[in-house]
Amino acid sequence: MALYNVDGIVIRVRNFQEADKIVVLLTREEGKVEAVARGARRPRNRFAAATQLFSHVRAQLFSGRSLDTLSQVEIVESFRQLREDLVRMAYATYACELIDALLPERQRQEAPYLLLLTSLHLFNEPDRAPEPLLRAFELKLLSMLGFRPSLTECVGCGAEEVQQGGAVRFAPVLGGVLCPQCSAEGEGAMRLSLGALESMKRLLDGDIRRAHVIRLSGEVAAEIDRALTAYILARTERRLKSKEFLDTLRSNP
Ligand SMILES: [Zn+2]
Repeated sequence: MALYNVDGIVIRVRNFQEADKIVVLLTREEGKVEAVARGARRPRNRFAAATQLFSHVRAQLFSGRSLDTLSQVEIVESFRQLREDLVRMAYATYACELIDALLPERQRQEAPYLLLLTSLHLFNEPDRAPEPLLRAFELKLLSMLGFRPSLTECVGCGAEEVQQGGAVRFAPVLGGVLCPQCSAEGEGAMRLSLGALESMKRLLDGDIRRAHVIRLSGEVAAEIDRALTAYILARTERRLKSKEFLDTLRSNP
């Protein structure tokens, strides 16, 4: 059996047997990794604090035949403010669940790890609006995983003239905007105002650390939410519990 070291973020935790936890870590070195933390549910256990959702840790793991085991762990950042604010926690929980839903296990890819780490730091800062940040996170994550939405050219034929009547048609299943000629082909296509389209382009290609300066009016935020929710659902093929919870919080501020 071999020991290996990772830098990782806890993106999922569940109880296991009487006193253990199973954690899913998104690591810089190995991609998504699952490991048992023996005794983590016992009070004062050395793994207890490090095996909470969002914890950024440095860990040593022991690779087992069926499951890897946490051998040593050290907290780099616990994101305490996130845990103390229900709304921010809901945003960050969804970010973790989305990354978990879209990434296969053990696929080494550093970019999603760095994106999540940066995003958790930004969600953790109380003066940043979480909504544009989440949208930038979703768009950038999808792009990294090969699902970059086509926002400037028709996803059907590549035409650059996509406006119709001061808006565009966005087809979530095809993954982009449609020109007037292709408009009929987009299953579940929806209207997207030019304001919403512009904001999505800026969120997709801009620096995520500046996403909070992009102001999304209630109407534009709702349009982007509708478009991205449908777009992501077409990729995950299931609704994420944390997204439903976030929607409940947002509709009852
Ligand atoms: Zn077209």
